[in-house]
Amino acid sequence: MRFTTRLLHEAFSPDPATGTTTQPIYQTSAFYQPTAEKMAEVFVGRSPGFVYTRVNNPTVAGFERRINALEGGVGAVACSSGMAAVSHAVLNILSQGDEILASGGLYGGTSSFFRDLASYGIGVRYAAGDRVEDFRAALSARTKMIYVETIGNPKLDVVDLAALAKLAHENDVPLFVDNTVTTPYLCQPLSLGADVVIHSTSKALNGNANSIGGIVVSGGKFAWDTARYPKLREYPFGPMSYIVRLRQRMVTDYGGCMAPFNAYLTGIGLDTLSLRLDRITDNAMALATYLAKRGVTVNYPGLPDSPAHEAAKRQFGGRYGAMLTLRLGTKERAFRFINSLHYALNVSNIGDARTLVLHPASTIFLHASAEEKANAGVTDDLVRVNVGLEDIEDLLEDFEQAFDSLENGVDKSE
Ligand code: PLP
Repeated sequence: MRFTTRLLHEAFSPDPATGTTTQPIYQTSAFYQPTAEKMAEVFVGRSPGFVYTRVNNPTVAGFERRINALEGGVGAVACSSGMAAVSHAVLNILSQGDEILASGGLYGGTSSFFRDLASYGIGVRYAAGDRVEDFRAALSARTKMIYVETIGNPKLDVVDLAALAKLAHENDVPLFVDNTVTTPYLCQPLSLGADVVIHSTSKALNGNANSIGGIVVSGGKFAWDTARYPKLREYPFGPMSYIVRLRQRMVTDYGGCMAPFNAYLTGIGLDTLSLRLDRITDNAMALATYLAKRGVTVNYPGLPDSPAHEAAKRQFGGRYGAMLTLRLGTKERAFRFINSLHYALNVSNIGDARTLVLHPASTIFLHASAEEKANAGVTDDLVRVNVGLEDIEDLLEDFEQAFDSLENGVDKSE
């Protein structure tokens, strides 16, 4: 079965109770069981069923099964947001004294969360570059997790995931990959050796910017040594230990569950993932090519001179995502350019049907330190563009008129 057929048919079947061809919305907080014995069995997981929506819900479970199938995992747990997925995934195994080794170009929300982990005695080190040697040089005896994004947001750095997985496993450490920017259509990190995949489902998986959500998928292959990962001691379930603990201790206790209605909406968006990404990545390539020809300083992994091009080409099946960045010389010029665009909306989001622009330094990196900004490639003149589904001719004309306004000093905010 090829990707789009899998997207529509794998782990999906019409609802057996009613025959509905969309996942029904079970908008309920709790579930009845006919006897106390049956309730006890469901509660401990000896019998299938549902108890309480914070733990699981049929609409959410349907969504989890589909993403798990697309990523090739052994199980998935959906969360209330991408950040809930990141924080639950990490805290599921790390304890005081442990360290995360991360790529420099992480999304600002994730690096901000990692900074806060210092107050719990969990440290973070950033690799100095995107080569495997940079990660090797930054490993320490305390490293318990390597954490990267497939395409850094907004640095656009790409690591060699198979080589990094090998390095991680040689050091008895799992590789966690945030696959939000590429989605399983462009990249399936578990098949390259990663151990856990994380998504903000608020982005391209949803595609219409109508719900916040996240999901964690476990590959089930990492051999957890409970002397190094004592939190997993109570979960001796082999390949399922990580994901069972995630549901029972993280989502259940910390409470970051996905809402059934958000699972429903995101599942509807998911149906058209490949169709949307074909169009969006074609548009992004055309826009990046036009900008490069115009002499603008543009970074897009699809351009042959991008430092990420070779790794992206090998891993993402000839498509390079929706995100590109431009450097416009100064913060003032970046602001004026954003203010001049008509179709590209000034929005702090990615993965929408519409083209979005943002000035990262004054928004998602507002609270980042100078070092974090430098690691993430965020400069004052940087503009992030997330390309949408519009007719490419209109997008090119919009960017052209914005450059004209920049040169002629016109600004719609004035
Ligand atoms: N991971 C990446 C790569 C992101 O871009 C984002 C949000 O922009 C997140 C995680 C956090 O997701 P959410 O906004 O759904 O909490």
